[in-house]
Amino acid sequence: VRIARREGIPLYPVSRGRNWGYGSAVPPADGCVAIDLSRMARVLAHDESLGYVTVEPGVTFRALEAHLAARRSRLVAPRVGSTSDGSLVGHALERGLGADGVADRWQRVCALEVVLPTGERIETGFARHGAGLVAPLHRWGIGPSLDGLFSQSNYGIVTRMTLWLDERPALVDSIWLGLDDPAQLAGAVDAIRRLRRAQVLHAPLVISSGTRLLALAIQYPWSLAAGRTPLPRALERELCGGAGIARWSGGTTLAAASRDERRARRALVRAALDGEVASLRLAPAVTVTATDANVNLRAAYWRSLRPIPDEPDPDRDGCGVLFCAPVVPLVGRHVVRAAGIVERTLRRHGFDAIYTISLHDDRHATLIAFIVYDRALAGADAAARRCHDALLDRLAAAGYLPYRKATCARLPEANDAAVRARIKAALDPAGILAPGRYDDGTSRPAGGAAGAAARARRTRRSRR
Ligand SMILES: Cc1cc2nc3c(=O)[nH]c(=O)nc-3n(C[C@H](O)[C@H](O)[C@H](O)COP(=O)(O)OP(=O)(O)OC[C@H]3O[C@@H](n4cnc5c(N)ncnc54)[C@H](O)[C@@H]3O)c2cc1C
Repeated sequence: VRIARREGIPLYPVSRGRNWGYGSAVPPADGCVAIDLSRMARVLAHDESLGYVTVEPGVTFRALEAHLAARRSRLVAPRVGSTSDGSLVGHALERGLGADGVADRWQRVCALEVVLPTGERIETGFARHGAGLVAPLHRWGIGPSLDGLFSQSNYGIVTRMTLWLDERPALVDSIWLGLDDPAQLAGAVDAIRRLRRAQVLHAPLVISSGTRLLALAIQYPWSLAAGRTPLPRALERELCGGAGIARWSGGTTLAAASRDERRARRALVRAALDGEVASLRLAPAVTVTATDANVNLRAAYWRSLRPIPDEPDPDRDGCGVLFCAPVVPLVGRHVVRAAGIVERTLRRHGFDAIYTISLHDDRHATLIAFIVYDRALAGADAAARRCHDALLDRLAAAGYLPYRKATCARLPEANDAAVRARIKAALDPAGILAPGRYDDGTSRPAGGAAGAAARARRTRRSRR
């Protein structure tokens, strides 16, 4: 990093580079040197009784699960809905959504070690005082908390992070629900909000559009659709009906420490949802591993002409996936409205209505709209970008802004842009770190003033 600063060379760090749907490992600006941190893959600490692990950026979901299993740990291994080969640190820094019951991973991390673009190394929270005993246990430490500066930003390279993990509950049930029309979707969202706010439901409840479940079951039925896209509505209804897929389906888990608690929680869930949904099923949950979640990647191959391989890799296989992920108030009519915007916009642009609605917080829901296509088709990337931008504009006009952004996406205007530009200039005077990443133009050009001087020096040297 010090050399890059001196020479004015822009850097772009990735932990495992599986940021699929949001730009993968591609830097937002040209000419960056990629820093691949995947070989920094040690689990540095694991405390079973206090429930934390400290990891380097290369540690994957799969590797941590194996680490915990080898030690017969009771801690729940984090999972993500994409690939178990993703990075715990990369996922947390993007403020990604977990699939293991912890919806917002970023809220469960502390004690970062960060290499600043100046080459300085800092630690956050109590770790800044070298207080190793309490640093992994307390988020803030004393004084201003700097952690927030390093998520969804280009202010530093995170080289260590502590993650808090929960203990596996004694009893876990699965809850499945089916919804047939928008009134049921709205009613279910409002009922789930009440259950969450009453502390009955804790785990995220993910609602999938029927088309998303179809895309997990089969690939695009090109011959039945006679080559047309998006999937004709009648054919979609026929295929979903044949597979027993509702218009929307939701799933979550319900944890309890004893049989009595389980009975009481089940009764509360039934009382809240029974009249609101088309179908409701509660059953003891089967254990899901980090690798099981890889099944979700099938959706990335929906429009692909090649069969889905055993080890899916959308980048390698030319699967186009672009996400638009708006945050919506946890209110039934807002969720229905946002889902309507997503469905209409995707289909108008020739894409299918593949999306999920993640109810993982007491106050907001997050919709994830999947723009899925075959990158081999001429003009497909550009068409996906047009659809994404139109969707972003329509959602923003309705007040729904994305929680995270694809590398190629625009950011909405922000009234703190000038302040962030000053922070960026202070931490990265040469403007070398990930220019264009989440900075809506607030970075100085790659290399900045120091970079320009370094470039001039290099030119003089090479002339000599
Ligand atoms: C079908 C499908 C389902 C998905 N489901 C989910 C889901 O459920 N939840 C979810 O959150 N995502 C999901 N994703 C998106 C993505 O695949 C995951 O978020 C994945 O974990 C991110 O890749 P990674 O962990 O390898 O991070 P990386 O690609 O390594 O990092 C992400 C970005 O963070 C920055 N970064 C990474 N490491 C560092 C560092 N050490 N210091 C500074 N900056 C850094 C980089 O700019 C990088 O581009 C899904 C994708 C697909 C295709």
